[in-house]
Amino acid sequence: MTCLPDRPPGAPALGLVIDLDTCVGCQACATSCKQWNASGHSGPLPDLHPYSAGAEGVWFNRVHSFEAGEGAAGRTVHFPRSCLHCETPDCVTVCPTGASYKRAEDGIVLVNHDACIGCGLCAWACPYGAREMDEVAGVMKKCTLCVDRIYNETIPEALRQPACVLACPTKARHFGDLADPQSAVSQLVADRGGQALMPDLGYRPVNRYLPPRQRQAESQPIEDQPTPLDIKNPLLRWMDRVLTR
Ligand code: SF4
Ligand code: SF4
Repeated sequence: MTCLPDRPPGAPALGLVIDLDTCVGCQACATSCKQWNASGHSGPLPDLHPYSAGAEGVWFNRVHSFEAGEGAAGRTVHFPRSCLHCETPDCVTVCPTGASYKRAEDGIVLVNHDACIGCGLCAWACPYGAREMDEVAGVMKKCTLCVDRIYNETIPEALRQPACVLACPTKARHFGDLADPQSAVSQLVADRGGQALMPDLGYRPVNRYLPPRQRQAESQPIEDQPTPLDIKNPLLRWMDRVLTR
């Protein structure tokens, strides 16, 4: 049994905000995460049988794609999944050695690989599937929010963000302090109705997901949608013709 820390009042809760409206499922976040972490604090991150049946490996960030809705309202939703750095996670409290822990100062959930015995209890306790067993080293690994990058004073300040956030080509990933209601990420969550995953479980995830926006085609009957001739601005009419070719 491992205790959760007493988080000082006003302590940051660092986490990610992921926009399901603009994520295009390109996997740039997953591969940049793998690249940074394989050679950093958590590395190596082995892949076993990568080119044959039974391929498996350690990936802190996985992107799943789903078909949602039907007919004209149907769309593909891309869902990136990684540790949510929960405030009250059982993945920490079940750990028999203290290897899994939550940092008091910023809320990041980490694993001390030297103390981990590879029992896998934390993976069993995480309802989000965010723990990754390194079968080669025999220890549990997981997203660290790039803790060896976000405080790294040897790299330019603008680059002290998780690798996944920097790599995202559609800016669907945002990093910041979700305990501060004035932070950019908190404002984004408030503006877009950001959601916690499965809040009823009581783990109090820090990360938030911004739901897909309703498309115009879903919100407006097709006969009411503008045709190119209805568009008065000549520039917009030209753009409409080019984009609908
Ligand atoms: Fe633990 Fe899973 Fe929550 Fe991460 S998402 S803190 S691994 S319970
Ligand atoms: Fe703790 Fe490691 Fe066991 Fe997870 S696998 S519960 S981190 S000892």
